[in-house]
Amino acid sequence: MYELKVITRFAAAHRLTMVGTKCENMHGHNWKIEVVLQGDRLDSAGVLMDFGDVKALLRGIIARLDHQFLNELPMFEGGQPSSERIATFVADQLQQALDVPTVRVSRVSAWESEDACATWVATESSSG
Ligand SMILES: [Zn+2]
Repeated sequence: MYELKVITRFAAAHRLTMVGTKCENMHGHNWKIEVVLQGDRLDSAGVLMDFGDVKALLRGIIARLDHQFLNELPMFEGGQPSSERIATFVADQLQQALDVPTVRVSRVSAWESEDACATWVATESSSG
């Protein structure tokens, strides 16, 4: 089994109601997104998947979040843009965009500060 990890970053604002405390006020984060892909078969080049391809897919996904007020984006309609939901959004989008059947998204972490992150973890049922 192999794992690839790719890190990307974006800046955005959000507001979380019903959490209490200062999170209810609009504020910003410089999120760090850590993506882990998993698979057990290497291609003819000896890699699980080209890092450049992973980064290109991620760029397209992150561009939809970068410098936005997340509460106003359609993908967070009906749910607050918490770090947990951001991680889930990135995981779903990346899994859909992956066209390598032997590779899957196994976890996505959304770091909202240096010492706090939320992680989406693939379960058996999401392995396809
Ligand atoms: Zn926040």
